[in-house]
Amino acid sequence: MSKKIVVVGGVAGGATAVARLRRLDESAQILLLERGEHVSFANCGLPYYIGGTIANRDSLFVTDIPSIQAKYNVEIRNFSEVIRINPKEKQVLVREKGGREYTESYDELLLSTGSTPFVPDMPGKDFPNVFTLWNVPDTDRIYAYIQDNKPKQAVVVGGGFIGLELAENLVDRGIDVTLVEFADQVMQPLDIEMARLVENHLRSKGVRLMLQQRVTQIENQGRQVVLGDGQRLDTDMTLLCVGIRPNTALAKEAGLKVNQHGGVMVNERMQTSDPHIYAVGDMIEVKNLVSGLPTMIPLAGPANKQGRAVAANMLGLEEETYEGSMGTSVAKVFDLTVASTGENEKQLQARGLQYQKDYAYSLVHPMSHAGYYPGATPMTLKVLFSLEDGRVLGAQCVGFDGVDKRIDVIATSIYFKGTIHDLKRLELSYAPPYSNAKDPVNMAGFVAANYTKGLSDGVSVRQYLDNKEQYTVLDVREDVECAAGTIPSAVRIPLPQLRERLSELDKQKNYLVCCAVGIRGYIAERILKQKGFTASNLMGGYRSWKDWTQEVSTSMRQDTYQDKLPTQGQEITLDVCGLSCPGPIMEVSKRIADMQEGETLSVQASDPGFIRDIDSWCQNTGNALLSKSAEKGIFRAVVRKGGGAVQQSRDKEKTMIVFDGDLDKAIAAFIIANGSVAMGNKVNMFFTFWGLNIIKREGVRAKKDLMGRMFSLMLPKSSQRLSLSKMNFGGMGSRMMRAVMKKKGISSLEDLIKQAQDSGVRLVACQMSMDVMGITKEELLDGVEIGGVASMLNDNDRSNMNLFI
Ligand code: FAD
Repeated sequence: MSKKIVVVGGVAGGATAVARLRRLDESAQILLLERGEHVSFANCGLPYYIGGTIANRDSLFVTDIPSIQAKYNVEIRNFSEVIRINPKEKQVLVREKGGREYTESYDELLLSTGSTPFVPDMPGKDFPNVFTLWNVPDTDRIYAYIQDNKPKQAVVVGGGFIGLELAENLVDRGIDVTLVEFADQVMQPLDIEMARLVENHLRSKGVRLMLQQRVTQIENQGRQVVLGDGQRLDTDMTLLCVGIRPNTALAKEAGLKVNQHGGVMVNERMQTSDPHIYAVGDMIEVKNLVSGLPTMIPLAGPANKQGRAVAANMLGLEEETYEGSMGTSVAKVFDLTVASTGENEKQLQARGLQYQKDYAYSLVHPMSHAGYYPGATPMTLKVLFSLEDGRVLGAQCVGFDGVDKRIDVIATSIYFKGTIHDLKRLELSYAPPYSNAKDPVNMAGFVAANYTKGLSDGVSVRQYLDNKEQYTVLDVREDVECAAGTIPSAVRIPLPQLRERLSELDKQKNYLVCCAVGIRGYIAERILKQKGFTASNLMGGYRSWKDWTQEVSTSMRQDTYQDKLPTQGQEITLDVCGLSCPGPIMEVSKRIADMQEGETLSVQASDPGFIRDIDSWCQNTGNALLSKSAEKGIFRAVVRKGGGAVQQSRDKEKTMIVFDGDLDKAIAAFIIANGSVAMGNKVNMFFTFWGLNIIKREGVRAKKDLMGRMFSLMLPKSSQRLSLSKMNFGGMGSRMMRAVMKKKGISSLEDLIKQAQDSGVRLVACQMSMDVMGITKEELLDGVEIGGVASMLNDNDRSNMNLFI
């Protein structure tokens, strides 16, 4: 007798299962119940319809109900919500749109009810301009709101995949986006240094990022978002993307076994604790294929594959098992691709594994394809592996091209329990437009294998910063590269001179070699080790250092500086796409040397470090950067040769060293800064010692040693806690001062700081004072750069007014 199969939920898992059920059994009676209007729609495409990339709403519907019914001979009832399961009677209770309820019997039942966006229970969440995004009606609401109200600014709460996709698509609609994230990074599948790349990219596209901030309420008819530290953000719409919860109330009520996250527990056949009820998709617990531990992985790929596998089991045919998931995922963040698979460091550490004891990683910056073939762009690839047997545990990749391909290759290796030695040996397709003879995956394998063989000791930037006193940094880059910046206090010997200049080095010291991306550093490390020195290599080189220590400012979106400067002759063009650091800067340096004063050079590069390097290089070499821009992984800069630019900038640049942390002095400093900017000056503010308290933000809990914790206890927590230099009277004076300023309509210190940041004043925190006082980068306001005395003196040199406050 043919079976009656009822499927609840008609999108990823449910719709796939229905199609496979029919293909396997022409005689089964199949009924699909879906509470919404649409089945089998492209939920992953919804953000792109909002942004306009998917222009036609109909494209969101992969197919329609009559077509599915005709193709598969199944019955589909939309607007039909299952509100109860009666496992004993093998029945479900269904409620139709109009409220009518009826029971439906089944032989086998499949649940694929998905998940629902989590909405924090906070005041203001129900204002009509506060949204979540999960299905077509949500999308229609957001779309219509944008069309009707033409919002200018939006707050996106949550820096996960959907939050970031929405941020991009709102920017595409011309909306200014502030993204608020509670954690200290966006994109939780990434490790923090990889997330930094994404964060800097978001900023470069104009998204204002506020990390470690919690939204506590929405006020003023949805026009103001209030943060945990009291800050208020003006907004025209708010999008809550703070995570999802599995739709398992039905399953729980029916007595099916669920885990602590509410996920329905199933066996490898996708069978729940009731043998006639199966479940797939976002609502179930799966096995993590790397750790073997139970987890929840709400992604479309696993849901579809589970939906396909479950069909044979429900029909009692040859068993199909689903072994588990690895969380392989990819996302587009503007023109950047971000992908990951397997476990990250946080997950490894959560299960008690220790870095360099149980696991290690390689981090490389290879090009997407041969550098000499047009269009090559660099990527950052991190591969985590077990130190016990070399097994690959996870990988993350960020770049503009070829990122998904590398992560898919590594995901395949992880699936087959591959090791870093397999990554080394994999024979991958190669021709110049597609890859390198040594593919990025091979490169990551080589670096990892060198580490396990003891040929190279990779030290990460974070590891170095936490243990600076242990190392002497040896920078082996060329002088021209160092003109774009070096690690403070680095000893410099270019690699080609190293063998001759070994006598300048000290065998008692522990050298950490730094080059541009780690390749020359490895060569230098090998030379040093074989000559009896203690040496290690900075993983990812100066590029990784800059990625970690330098925050890209939001204003980098499209900068034009001194384009009124006189220029001579025709613009000379230079295409250095495909060259990785230091190539672009060296080529610029060579070309500029052959040019006449006043001539301009328009450079096009694919190396993301170039756009930051060219800034410092121009400042340090007396050339003028006229403009810079970025589009789809190609960076453009226009440089004018000549000292005129330095003079021009000197007349227009002011630098302040803000040493004191008194409220009145801070106000004075920012009034001068803002006034100065308004008069067309460039302003740098270097905050040192007590001055650091002015640029701290409240409510950040950073990990600290004992001294750091004591300093935290004794120092003001933010600008709002500063005292007056005179007449403070235990805080009464500063409160009076603030009240009088408010009454007289004078901007508060916090407003002055914001105005300064918005108008491009550079706020630089002194690295040394931060170290002394145990202040971490996370405690400082977004957009504050970290710098040393050298960078401050550099600013002084260029300025015609230097103040010490
Ligand atoms: P769903 O596909 O969500 O289907 C569940 C269905 O069940 C819903 O239609 C719901 O109405 C219905 N339902 C629930 N309860 C009942 C009930 N009691 N009675 C009847 N019907 C019910 N994943 C990726 O891998 N890559 C991406 O790029 C990606 N992008 C995404 C972008 C967005 C905006 C969204 C919302 C999700 C995205 N996802 C992505 C996640 C992916 O869509 C989900 O993991 C996948 O759809 C889960 O499949 P599912 O079958 O479990 O649930």
